[in-house]
Amino acid sequence: MAVYNGPKCRLCRREGMKLYLKGERCHTNKCAITKRGDNYPPGMQGWKRPRKPSEYGMQLREKQRLKRMYGLLERQFRRMFSLAQKTRGNTGEVLLQLMDRRLDNVVRASGLAYGPASARQMVTHGLVYVNGRKVNVPSILVKTGDVVSVHPRERTQSLVKGIVESAKVYQSVPGWLERDDGNLTVKVLNLPTREEFPLQIREQLIVEGCSK
Ligand code: SF4
Repeated sequence: MAVYNGPKCRLCRREGMKLYLKGERCHTNKCAITKRGDNYPPGMQGWKRPRKPSEYGMQLREKQRLKRMYGLLERQFRRMFSLAQKTRGNTGEVLLQLMDRRLDNVVRASGLAYGPASARQMVTHGLVYVNGRKVNVPSILVKTGDVVSVHPRERTQSLVKGIVESAKVYQSVPGWLERDDGNLTVKVLNLPTREEFPLQIREQLIVEGCSK
């Protein structure tokens, strides 16, 4: 599956907001957004006077924010969007919920990985289990009651324990997930609600832009 391998802070600078793509660094003064503010887009020219975006521009930015936060490229995002359209309920809210329910996001949000890229890598490398079965597809959607665990190999367990310990300092587990630090498991208590979505996203703009 195609992935973006370029500089991650560049994506945050382009979107003018923290997307939390680098784990602990995102919560320190080394973060590019913390250092330079949210109006410092990437490129040689540095700071630019902000221009008033067009309606299309606003819709595009909102979509890019969502895609980049979850590490999706256009085709993967389109698949999620069409699934949201086919699902009963408010399309924008369903889309955000589907994004949150991705297995790689559950691994990241529960603090078992540093960021979206390392969470995806853990899944594709077969280090993540769902209900006791190895799953190596990051886009699998978790359901209420599912239990996500880590490969029982000692080396993997101690590595992930270290990540969990460091993540405790800067990241809390969302209310719809319950992490068992001793066994390194994460239980899905319920499906995430709109209020629990971690970033400020205007999903209605995404729906308007993608429905044309
Ligand atoms: Fe870089 Fe993280 Fe800051 Fe984004 S939030 S600019 S990825 S350090």
